[in-house]
Amino acid sequence: MPDIAREFELIRRFFDRQQASEHIVLGIGDDAAVTEVPPGYQLVTATDTLVATTHFEPDADPVSIGHRSLAVNLSDLAAMGAEPRWVSLALTIPALDESWLEDFASGFFALAERTGVTLIGGDTVRGPLAITVTVQGLVPHGTAITRAGATPGDFLYVTGYPGAAAFARSHPDHELAHCFEFPEPRLEAGDALRGIASAMIDISDGLDSDIRQLLQASNVGADIDLHRLPVAASIDSQLGFLAGAELAMFGGEDYELLFAVSGEHRRKLREQINAWTVPVTEIGKVVAADGLRWLLDKGVYTPQQQEFRHFV
Ligand code: ADP
Ligand code: MG
Repeated sequence: MPDIAREFELIRRFFDRQQASEHIVLGIGDDAAVTEVPPGYQLVTATDTLVATTHFEPDADPVSIGHRSLAVNLSDLAAMGAEPRWVSLALTIPALDESWLEDFASGFFALAERTGVTLIGGDTVRGPLAITVTVQGLVPHGTAITRAGATPGDFLYVTGYPGAAAFARSHPDHELAHCFEFPEPRLEAGDALRGIASAMIDISDGLDSDIRQLLQASNVGADIDLHRLPVAASIDSQLGFLAGAELAMFGGEDYELLFAVSGEHRRKLREQINAWTVPVTEIGKVVAADGLRWLLDKGVYTPQQQEFRHFV
């Protein structure tokens, strides 16, 4: 923004809203923020960009855009088992639309407050609508859960109902619409899975694509039965079993967690998950042979609708 006074006013009014919390030495207002990593912890950092038309409709509800821009980043921290602390927001906006900014900020800060993250800085420039968010979180030293730890014999689990977000994006008036507009980062599950999960990833591109990422990083394969996929009841009844399962495999934008648990830790997991607010489903097993096999009625199933996949 060329007008410096207006930019400061905008930042102060819409974004400098939170109390400085513990470990923030310096927040919004200086050249950079300063934060303190407590002894015994490591800093975990993730960045994601949302671009209008690619990741959301340009006329989408700004409350949802504010929520999603933070939620997709928090999902990456959840997938590492990290506890979120700080966030930085780089906002590119075509015009200074006050009501848009007010709504965007309300979606962003509602989630920030609920998840205990503080906005410590950012950048505000004029241009085609795009939002880049960087989140930072903490893990006890050496406990971050990577994609690389799965071993043959591990069981595979997924949270929530994959496919629901893709269904919601094309059915904006459906009862599931919130699954696309307001994805819930699975921080509670991610946090509880430190010391239990051997590998974890969040599902942003679709179950098929993201399972393959985890398997490749861990140098293993997996067998997953289509009948085990948790498909939301209303999707199953509207699309039928196979189309619902394929949407779960290729839909994307779910921001659910996929993780592996050894036989040894499986009991610990089962004791925990009843207390979680998100449902967890065991969907298959890690095997030594390379690649992912979808199984249906004792045979290998070749998916039909891979074009559900988003290439972004
Ligand atoms: P600089 O010229 O040093 O980059 P800016 O004018 O861009 O400074 O920003 C001034 C202060 O406001 C900095 O602390 C920066 O982190 C913060 N800031 C700018 N835009 C945002 C935003 N959208 N959200 C939060 N903080 C912001
Ligand atoms: Mg700047």
